[in-house]
Amino acid sequence: MSTTKHSFQAEVAQVLHLVTHSLYSNPEIFLRELVSNAADACDKLRFEALNQAALYENDADLRVRISFDEKAKTLTIEDNGIGMSQQEAIDNLGTIAKSGTREFTSRLTGDAKADSQLIGQFGVGFYSAFIVADSVTVETRRAGAAASEGVRWISRGTGDFEVEAIERAARGTRITLHLRDDASEFLNGWKLKSVINKYSDHISLPVQMEKQEWKEAEEEGQPGAMVKTGEWETINQANALWTRAKKDISSEQYIEFYKGLSHDFAAPLAWSHNKVEGATEYTQLLYIPATAPQDLFTRDKQAGIKLYVKRVFIMNEADALLPSYLRFVFGVIDSADLPLNVSRELLQESRDVRAIRDGNTRRVLAMLEQLANAATASDADAITDVADKNEADNTENDETGALKESEKYAHFYREFGAVLKEGLGEDFANRERIAKLLRYASTASDTVSVGFADYKARMKDGQKAIYYITADSLSAAQSSPQLELFKKKGIEVLFMTDRVDEWAMGFVNEFDGTPLQSVAKGAVDLGDLQDEQERKAAEEAAEHFKPVLERLKQALKDQASDVQATTRLVDSPACLVVKDGQISGQLARLLKQAGQ
Ligand code: ADP
Ligand code: MG
Repeated sequence: MSTTKHSFQAEVAQVLHLVTHSLYSNPEIFLRELVSNAADACDKLRFEALNQAALYENDADLRVRISFDEKAKTLTIEDNGIGMSQQEAIDNLGTIAKSGTREFTSRLTGDAKADSQLIGQFGVGFYSAFIVADSVTVETRRAGAAASEGVRWISRGTGDFEVEAIERAARGTRITLHLRDDASEFLNGWKLKSVINKYSDHISLPVQMEKQEWKEAEEEGQPGAMVKTGEWETINQANALWTRAKKDISSEQYIEFYKGLSHDFAAPLAWSHNKVEGATEYTQLLYIPATAPQDLFTRDKQAGIKLYVKRVFIMNEADALLPSYLRFVFGVIDSADLPLNVSRELLQESRDVRAIRDGNTRRVLAMLEQLANAATASDADAITDVADKNEADNTENDETGALKESEKYAHFYREFGAVLKEGLGEDFANRERIAKLLRYASTASDTVSVGFADYKARMKDGQKAIYYITADSLSAAQSSPQLELFKKKGIEVLFMTDRVDEWAMGFVNEFDGTPLQSVAKGAVDLGDLQDEQERKAAEEAAEHFKPVLERLKQALKDQASDVQATTRLVDSPACLVVKDGQISGQLARLLKQAGQ
């Protein structure tokens, strides 16, 4: 049979070079990656077989098997999932398709040590096999194809790989790793079991190993040994984590499951696991990550929700299950009501999906409220155990740099606050809840920690509005001449320095009955806060400066629609203001930058 040689795509070669030439802080992650690929392959088969049962070839017991051979120094991971055709093997194993790995390559620094830590954090999918192996053989056959359409793929992790056609009776994929000398620890049943338990416990199909038994030596005085019995035993729990009772799941298991879902290396800030009953029944497991992915603001950022129907995997990135302003959330939804053949198009129209989406939205907002409350509670020095309040939700974690409960919301907000603000324009039904979650710096606080409610609580007697200013940066906001009067009078002004703020504030006119007012717009009416004397002085000044103002108006007639005397300045001679209802200077600058 003929063997063909193929070169890896340049990015793959780059990843492989790194994987084979650096220190790895965490070599065992290769098992996580290969077992999860095997599980994905089984999920794909189960899904395709929904409409084409023949693909099972009379073997519907999907499983992953791991075995090793100490003498040959090989470790084998075998699944009876969907398998690959020759072309699929060339495409899938020779190029990088998944965005996670591409992101990984974009973050490489060239410093071997730092980069090798990145491997552990991101996982580099299939290529992580080369962390422990000096050569990898993949034998596979696609479900439904003839035995003669098997494929063997071999690579030593250098620039190229070889492919040949083989006979292969078994459907699915077998990956054989020839382990390097320094990876021989993986030729040990105990070691493998412990690693698999750590990374694969939540996987919903059986991960099996050959049973070993202790056998005394035949001759007296000789040591006994573990020998393989030829029987397979399932070593993980093999039921999907979200289907188990909460009390049977440890925090560690929740965290590992999250890492598998998200490819994130850090523990999540919070999660919530619920069986929702009622007109629409589903299980919901939702996570709030600690760190934002790089593509958070790109248009094609994929949703982090996996959809299952009665434990059958249906699709990744089910974006109909959460509004786009919550796109940072990862999780699993398992519905009892949707049809198994549900498509993306159908999802958009389903009433059940709408109910699930609303339920998910409420749940995420509730998790955020809980984090936000923990932050305020500690401010007031009166923190009680928040975790107690709602057993279903767990905000505990030990790995996110050991963040305290009270620090988590600020951390969340730094990463995702700007995305959350999009919700003001996107989700009218929850606008008030979202507004309550927003935080700003202000004339009274250098840190982004002031909510509208905090602001209201310390408003001056007689103050009738919540004042804010939009600017490009905190320092620009702080030094704005438009603040002078407010500072003088000790009136707090919120600083809105995110790009989305101006747009987002267009959707919020008031908070809890108090109007919001930009200090850069229209006449600033301080109402009762302005004393009679000041008002009089202003009127006199306007009268006094009339001729000057007329001349200025004439001179600036192409630039300014009006020139007025004002009481809003204390030290500066002049400032620009925008008429009420017009877009502000900040937004005008933004639009101009965007070429509008
Ligand atoms: P990812 O799993 O994120 O897609 P990987 O690098 O882990 O990226 O795998 C690359 C691709 O190789 C997979 O998307 C899949 O198409 C294919 N693949 C890997 N392992 C298997 C397997 N055991 N069975 C079938 N296809 C596989
Ligand atoms: Mg993978």
